[in-house]
Amino acid sequence: MRESILTSAVLILAMDGMPVLVTNVAAAVGHVLTERARPISWYDRLILHPTYKMPAPSVIQHIQAHPYRPLLSVGPRNVFARDRFRCAYCDKKVPNRDLTLDHIIPRCQAQRGLVAPPWINGWVPVHSWQNLTTACFACNNAKGGRTPEEAGLEFTRIPHTPGVAESALILAIRARRSLPETWLPHLFPLFSMPTLT
Ligand SMILES: [Zn+2]
Repeated sequence: MRESILTSAVLILAMDGMPVLVTNVAAAVGHVLTERARPISWYDRLILHPTYKMPAPSVIQHIQAHPYRPLLSVGPRNVFARDRFRCAYCDKKVPNRDLTLDHIIPRCQAQRGLVAPPWINGWVPVHSWQNLTTACFACNNAKGGRTPEEAGLEFTRIPHTPGVAESALILAIRARRSLPETWLPHLFPLFSMPTLT
């Protein structure tokens, strides 16, 4: 039996056509049925539901403007893919079972949810691209609720917010194969543009 189409990835475009997020078919259908988004492209599969039957969308577009548009949400899987699954401290490639998400300036040191990492001029949310990194279990455990400096850990790279082109690459890494073909016209024209961030 084929894998359920409901878990396949769907690209979400903002009202102006910019890619904003990736979701799955089940969530995308929810957006379409509640008229928050309309389908733009489809997979070659049908969704068979007791009350409706529709082609599975592969790209949907928001009908209304959204107040903000992060290209990728800040979550473990996107951070791991941004960091190519390498630990920020020992720089080793980390097997899946040992991957952990590290708040570089730890949550216990945040003030009202904000931190001021020395590599940024100002404050950012503790749970943001610029304060999150991939760490192996051993390094994260050794670090505990301390900054890398306090824990005596060498810090190998500055975390950053991915721009448009890198976000597309992260999506491809996460998909572990080529992107759905219907996504390409929405993603690849962006490679020649300056990044959004
Ligand atoms: Zn490590």
